[in-house]
Amino acid sequence: MKAVVVNPKGKANIEVIEKELRPLKPGEALVDVEYCGVCHTDLHVAAGDFGKVDGRILGHEGIGIVSKVADGVTSLKIGDRVSIAWMFQACGRCEYCTTGRETFCRDVQNSGYSVDGGMAEQCIVTADYAVKVPEGLDPAQASSITCAGVTTYKAIKVADIKPGQWIVIYGCGGLGNLAIQYAKHVFNANVIAIDINDDKLALAKEIGADLTINPVTEGDADKVIQEQVGGAHAAVVTAVSKVAFNSAVNAVRACGKVIAVGLPSETMDLNIPRLVLDGIEVVGSLVGTRKDLEEAFQFGAEGKVVPIVQTRCLHEVQDIFEEMEQGKIQGRMVIDFKQHACHC
Ligand SMILES: [Zn+2]
Ligand SMILES: [Zn+2]
Repeated sequence: MKAVVVNPKGKANIEVIEKELRPLKPGEALVDVEYCGVCHTDLHVAAGDFGKVDGRILGHEGIGIVSKVADGVTSLKIGDRVSIAWMFQACGRCEYCTTGRETFCRDVQNSGYSVDGGMAEQCIVTADYAVKVPEGLDPAQASSITCAGVTTYKAIKVADIKPGQWIVIYGCGGLGNLAIQYAKHVFNANVIAIDINDDKLALAKEIGADLTINPVTEGDADKVIQEQVGGAHAAVVTAVSKVAFNSAVNAVRACGKVIAVGLPSETMDLNIPRLVLDGIEVVGSLVGTRKDLEEAFQFGAEGKVVPIVQTRCLHEVQDIFEEMEQGKIQGRMVIDFKQHACHC
């Protein structure tokens, strides 16, 4: 089968090779991959930013059909459509796993990083950790929910936003546009979208943002938000920017929550009197559990959230990685493994 693997000598640190998968072990299932999205995290893994994983099959936004199940598998059957998500498997026994916080398990394994992922014609999954895709959800769109969708859905859950309350979404890219849709159409919140790119703000408005602010042309977002709505009840920061984090802390009202999702490798400035006297909470949120993904999928199936995806052929994968690195991409690029359209 064809697979996209990490190779520091290849264009964009990757190459497409022929690879045979090992036989299934008990508890595992084989998935014939239909689609796999390309995420910024894949670029980091390929570049060795999280450590060297040469030869690893990338991909944690995979969707496919179960074609074989090993002994002992009761949670999946042949023909089921399932996901291959960043959270590939956790220990199932620790204090995090047993209290609904499995993404923080210290022994978690990640698809396309610590184990082979979904950017290949086939992928081996741990059956109990592969989440089923509901009927009625387009599989290419489902691939985007597997990472960006569940990550933002979970972040808004952590924000504990109530209908009619104000939530700010910093960054309207691949994550942010889904955050806006979940906040607006699932949680019934009032949504403020922040980005430094007017095209992305126009899209934000189209998909449900009530208010958009470009801090470059309209002034500090936190000041505008305090003036216009008296501060937001919560902020979700998907932007990979320290400036956005610092703004978010000032954009929320007393007892507001700031949910950190973007990962700039920097330190944020946190004014301690502001934190204490206004009872601000700052919380990190990491992808989502299997249950979160099941729920995020369901809202996609109901049409409340519609990921913006574009399918591309496998032979273009190195170009896609380069385009992403250069920030040229709007929405999500999804590799079609089902039919190499161009017979490459
Ligand atoms: Zn991802
Ligand atoms: Zn655990």
